[in-house]
This record gives sequence, C-alpha cells and structure tokens, in this order.
Amino acid sequence: MPTSPTRGRSFPATSPDTEFFWEGAREGKLLAQRCSGCRALRHPPGPACPVCHSLDYDIVELSGRGVLYSYVVQHHPAAPGFDGPALVAAVELEEGVRLVSNLVGVDPDDVKIGESLEVIFVDQEEGWTAPQFRRLSA
Ligand code: ZN
Repeated sequence: MPTSPTRGRSFPATSPDTEFFWEGAREGKLLAQRCSGCRALRHPPGPACPVCHSLDYDIVELSGRGVLYSYVVQHHPAAPGFDGPALVAAVELEEGVRLVSNLVGVDPDDVKIGESLEVIFVDQEEGWTAPQFRRLSA
C-alpha cells in the first residue's frame, strides 16, 4: 500500500539556526546554508561550518531533486500523524547535501536505493509545512 503525504504531524523543535528552513518550506522552497568562508553547503542547519568553522553563511535555494540514499520503514510504534508505516528516507540532493524526510506515494516493498526523487511541500494541520519526497515524475 503506497505511503501517503502526512498532514497531522507536530512541528519539529526549532532553533534560531533552523527558522529559515521552515520559513522557506512554507513558501515552497527547499533552503540550505552555504558557508561564506569555503562555500560548502550544509544540512542540517547549524551555527558553524563543519569544514572551516566559519560562522558566516548565506541561504541558497536547492533544486529539490535528488536520489534515495537510504531508508527505513517504521512499523512500530505508530508515528503520530502517519496513517500507516512511516517511510523515513535519507535523500541525497543533487547539490550534494543529504536531508532526512519522508518518501510518499510509494509502496515500502517497492523502494529502490538510488531512485530519483523530488520534493513536495505538504501543509500540516498545525500550520507548518513539511518538505517530503516523491518519485521524480518522468
Ligand atoms: Zn566553511
């Protein structure tokens, strides 16, 4: 049975470093930090560059396309906001950063590492927007 986009999830814990990410999602944009020192992209957001330790960065919009790097199917305990098993996916975006999200619209028994994915933005009942992924449309 294909997984469905979820709409009843609680808003994740945030910090001043992650607010831009969720604001971008509300506007339908997948954003990441780019170090002003060495230009490395990074995700998840944080206060300092793990490569050169610079505290300066700007925000760039990502394409939202990538490939399935890894995944797990969580059957138990039931995850709040999910109708069935939760397909938790690590997506390697074409810019090179990885993001943990959900893969929707697929049968968990028919998932393939390396398949092409694209982001979708799913508004949640609590008033925030969750970036999730689906198979890239041909
Ligand atoms: Zn850096």
